[in-house]
Amino acid sequence: MLLAGKKGLIVGVANKRSIAWGIAQAAAREGATLAYTYQGERLKANVEELAKTLDPTAPLYDCDVTNDAQLDAVFQGIQSSWGALDFLVHAVAFAKREELEGEFVGTSRDGYALALDVSSYSLTALARRAVPLMTIPRGLPPVAGGSVVALTYYGAEKVIPRYNVMGVAKAALEASVRYLAYDLGPKHIRVNALSSGPVQTLAARGISGFSDMMKHVESRAPLRRNVTLEDVAHAAVFLLSPLAAGITGETLHVDCGYHIIGM
Ligand code: NAP
Repeated sequence: MLLAGKKGLIVGVANKRSIAWGIAQAAAREGATLAYTYQGERLKANVEELAKTLDPTAPLYDCDVTNDAQLDAVFQGIQSSWGALDFLVHAVAFAKREELEGEFVGTSRDGYALALDVSSYSLTALARRAVPLMTIPRGLPPVAGGSVVALTYYGAEKVIPRYNVMGVAKAALEASVRYLAYDLGPKHIRVNALSSGPVQTLAARGISGFSDMMKHVESRAPLRRNVTLEDVAHAAVFLLSPLAAGITGETLHVDCGYHIIGM
């Protein structure tokens, strides 16, 4: 099992379609023990019910990633229940609906700041708090280090109509991955991004024209299909696992090859 004995924090489960939940299931199958965050009471029951299907004792933490006190509480909780952390999955993003409808040029100052705060800065805020828990030597023989994976999208690299400010937020997220990989490499902490093709989730429903995006990918991608949740989850487990020991600062495309097409 690729993640036997590893403990990981999953940030971004909303429901059973969430990419974060796909990754949690695959990581658990590979032997990982997991903790989760949920955003507010509204999602608590959902996340609790899902988490229990894998592990009735899984720690759960209420956490809006824009709230520093809640972020601190998550890592204090992990410190007291586990004492260390092996991996972190960042699968959160948000932009106001109106920012994902019109033109990018119309993005408001508030809308820009909010999208970048939730979808990009949160990775740095989480990673910084994870570092002390990842640098504790553990296991036999004792080793220190960890792995961080953040979910991104091709709209960071190329213009995807109506993805708008989220594309800018994902570009900042991918750059953050590289800077974090540089800072944390000497501590044996790897940081990578996984660029997923479109998957029907709650967050995806907020992007107008999403079904057309999926049809477009299916007709143009070299594999002539869209990715499945399992495709994304398996690649995430690879990045989290020792099989990817030499990979950091990378953006791995899991998109049926769509990003290689020029025409
Ligand atoms: P999802 O199931 O809706 O997950 C998004 C999660 O982000 C939800 O749990 C959401 O909680 C959470 N979130 C939003 N604002 C938050 C905040 N302030 N604090 C804490 N959590 C917050 O959608 P998903 O598609 O799986 O998205 C996961 C990641 O994959 C995102 O980074 C997304 O951009 C990325 N991605 C998705 C696709 C796709 O096609 N679906 C493709 C490439 C990359 P609420 O429901 O409470 O807002």
